[in-house]
Formats: sequence, C-alpha cells, structure tokens
Amino acid sequence: MQYDVIIIGSGPGGYVSAIRCAQLGLKTAIIEKYKTFGGTCLNVGCIPSKALLDSSEHFHNAAHTFETHGIKLKDLKVDMPQMIARKDDVVAQNTAGITYLFKKNKIDSFEGVGSFVDKNTIKIAKADGSSENITGKNVVIASGSKPTALPFLPVDKKRIITSTEALNIKEVPKSMIVIGGGVIGLELGSVYARLGTKVSVIEFLPSIIATMDAGLGKELQRVLKKSLGMEFLMGHKVTGASVKGKTVTVTAQNSKGEDVTVEADYCIVAVGRTAYTEGLGLENIGIKTEERGNKIPVNAHLETAVPGVYAIGDVITGAMLAHKAEDEGTFVAETIAGQKPHINYNLIPGVVYTWPEVASVGYTEEQLKTNGVKYKSGSFPFKASGRAKASMDTDGFVKVLADEATDEILGVHMIGPRAADMIAEAVVAMEYRASAEDIARICHAHPTYTEAIKEAAMAATANRAIHM
Ligand SMILES: Cc1cc2nc3c(=O)[nH]c(=O)nc-3n(C[C@H](O)[C@H](O)[C@H](O)COP(=O)(O)OP(=O)(O)OC[C@H]3O[C@@H](n4cnc5c(N)ncnc54)[C@H](O)[C@@H]3O)c2cc1C
Repeated sequence: MQYDVIIIGSGPGGYVSAIRCAQLGLKTAIIEKYKTFGGTCLNVGCIPSKALLDSSEHFHNAAHTFETHGIKLKDLKVDMPQMIARKDDVVAQNTAGITYLFKKNKIDSFEGVGSFVDKNTIKIAKADGSSENITGKNVVIASGSKPTALPFLPVDKKRIITSTEALNIKEVPKSMIVIGGGVIGLELGSVYARLGTKVSVIEFLPSIIATMDAGLGKELQRVLKKSLGMEFLMGHKVTGASVKGKTVTVTAQNSKGEDVTVEADYCIVAVGRTAYTEGLGLENIGIKTEERGNKIPVNAHLETAVPGVYAIGDVITGAMLAHKAEDEGTFVAETIAGQKPHINYNLIPGVVYTWPEVASVGYTEEQLKTNGVKYKSGSFPFKASGRAKASMDTDGFVKVLADEATDEILGVHMIGPRAADMIAEAVVAMEYRASAEDIARICHAHPTYTEAIKEAAMAATANRAIHM
C-alpha cells in the first residue's frame, strides 16, 4: 500500500493532522507506539491533569467555601483511588474517541515504533518482535516530547517522580516538593495542595510562570500562598535529591549561595520537556536535531531538510502546547494538499489551569518595553466585578495592552475565574486586529467575568472604566 501521508505519533499534532489529511482526500496512515492514541496530551498530560484539577477543586471548595455559601457537610474526606479511577475513565473516553475518529475517517492505524528506512519507507517495529514496512509520498513526524531529565536529579518514578507518575499517586501525601515553578509544576502542585498536602515549590528564577507577563506570576504566587498555603523557594538552584525510605531530601542553593535542604514524601521534577526523537531513525535520512532541546529544524512550511518529510508539535520549535500542535497538524495536511494555510504564532494563547486560572495572548509588557513599542495599559481587578463577588472569586485582574497611537490590542493578560475560557475573546479580537475601543464598545452579558475584559479595554482606551 502506498500512502499519501504517513504520520508518526498520535498526539494532538499527529491525530489532528491525520484527520485533516483524510478530510482532504489523502490516503493516510498513523503509527503509535503505545496501545492508546492521543499522545502525551490525552494519556498523561492535558486531559488527566485537568480531570484531577477539577476533582481537587471540588474538594477544596467543599472544605473551604461551602460553609460560607450556606452548605454544611459532615465527614468530608478524599477517596484517592476513586479520584484516580475517575481520571482514568476520562482518559479512556477521550482516547476511545480518537479510535472512533480514525475509523470514521478511514485512516489506517498501526501499533508499533515507526522509524525511517528511507524518506518514503517507514518500518513499524511491533511489540511481539515482528515488523512491517509501509511507504508514503509524505511523512509527518509528530513524536512529541518527554520530561526533561537532569543528571543530578535521579528520577526513581516512586518518590522522585515526573508529571506522569504524579497523575497516579493513590494517597494524599503529607508533603511534596515541586521542582520548577512552570505550568506543569504549579498545576500538579495545586492538585495536591487542594487535597491537603504541604507543597513547596523550588524555582531557580525570581518568578513563577516566568515566560508570561510578570504581573501574572506575582499575583498567582500571592494567591497560591494565601489560599493553598503553598511555599515558594524562589531563586533556588537545586543541586541534588536522594531517597531514604519514604522520604525525599532535596538540596538547593539559595540566592546568597547558602545550602538549603527540604524534605517531603514526594518530589515532582517539572523542569520542562525535551523533544522526543529516539528510535525514529532520523540518521537514516540525514536529519540532525538541534543541540538545545533536541528539536527537529523545519522551514516556514514545517518541512524538514528532507523534502516531503514534515515535523509538527512538541518535536519542533515553539510553545509546547496541544493547541499549537493541533494547528500545525492542520497546517501540514493543508500544505500537502496544495493549500496555503497560515498560523499566527503570536496569537497562540497560553493557559495555566490553577485557580485562579491564568491566560495570556500576544505581547507581554516586558516584550513591548524591550522592543521599544509605545503602548497603553488598562487593568480591571476582579474584586470590582459583580459576578466575581457572587462566586467569591475576587482574586486577579485583566490587563489589556494597546498600541499608544493606533489603539490596536497588542496583548491581553489575565488571572482570574475562568480565564482559560475567556482568553478566546482576546484571541479572536486580536486575530481581526481589533482596537481596545472595539472591545470597549462591544456589549458583554451581565453579570459575567467577561465584563472585566471590556472594563480593562475601556481603561486602556481612555481611562474610562466604569466600575472602578
Ligand atoms: C502534565 C501535563 C499537562 C499538560 N497540560 C497541557 C494543557 O493543559 N494544555 C496544553 O495545550 N498542553 C498541555 N500539555 C502539553 C501537551 O501535552 C503537549 O504540548 C502535546 O501533547 C504535544 O503534542 P504532540 O502531538 O506534539 O506530541 P505528544 O502528545 O507527545 O504525542 C507524541 C506521540 O508520538 C508517539 N511516538 C513517539 N515516537 C514514536 C515512534 N517512533 N513511533 C510511534 N509512535 C511514536 C508517542 O508515544 C506519543 O503518543 C501538558 C503536558 C503535560 C506533561
């Protein structure tokens, strides 16, 4: 069988690309080395982490805010095995959905490790030791990423763990260290802190979620400390970790160069992810990965140095996000089909699913300053929002940054209730190059959290926010 397109990896990049290829009439095959489709995102990433974030949020609210709402509960406790089982069920529903979509779109799927024999031939090595070769006119590498390992932090997957094991702890730990104050560390740290674990975050940089607008990290750190009792050791360089019995000891150096020791039941190493290219046989077709991060270099069409071989998602440069991988999957399918697709990389939103949620799109204030762009800024705090008062979610704010001369929106940064969903309004507005005044003049339903976006836009337009 000669395929039009063979896709290696069934994460959000690979499976979306396969479906779009099939929609465009291309004969498509997809290869996945694991038993279930969906990659990191569906199996050990976005979906299971959000399932646990939702469960732990319910528990935290039941324990801390229900009484204020006038709801009394007796004998509230966490059933961790049930919480994990529900998460597993959510994952199973989602991965089964991909199997269904492959069948519906007549995509041939293969289980095994795919590797290049030559640029058109892929060997599929199966678990039973057998193998088969398939050929295709085009190949899309969507092999994703894996947790970054540090030589001085030996992950034993029992006590010193990665995000993958952190999704399967079947007890509520008394204490936990999270190394890395980025998105994954803070989300998983929040899950356990909400369930009652004492969580200490150790971060090398002076701020958490350091790539986002600086105001967001500052506010998030304040709220996580206040509402969940999370401890933050900022500017600390971790130097090692060891396990004795059920205790992990992490050593670090603080900004003054002093040695610091922290002990806990578990330690999650969440210092980032590295592109995964092991076993692809890239050397057989002459593709070299970048020294830093192991990324596969691609051109503007997401084509590698080998014509007809494309790469998408976490394995190439850019934000390691499921929706970025999905858009690239579509982009490559449409490119192969002869269309002229486009991705606006500046408008890929970034979200942190803590509570309050954090969401961001476009330029940060720091980037605008560095680029010498003259801008106006308007902010609106959730403590002034009627909707936020009603739900007792008054932490956080929305900030709109607009060009000083043209009023075009350049960045929107928010921390607050349902920010993850609200950011879509800013993305749409910016895609259509809206001005802050456009948002300010658009009717927003009352009472909703989205009114905070309108108010921040009004504040940016002419300092004319109504409710503050
Ligand atoms: C805990 C956690 C939470 C996250 N939460 C979010 C979130 O909320 N939102 C968000 O946008 N992103 C989130 N991410 C990131 C997101 O999961 C990734 O950006 C996304 O999965 C990347 O998609 P991908 O298709 O490039 O690769 P992956 O999803 O990593 O999929 C790659 C697939 O390729 C397979 N593969 C690799 N090599 C081969 C081979 N040689 N042969 C066959 N198969 C192979 C792998 O087994 C895997 O299934 C999270 C990540 C983690 C770890």
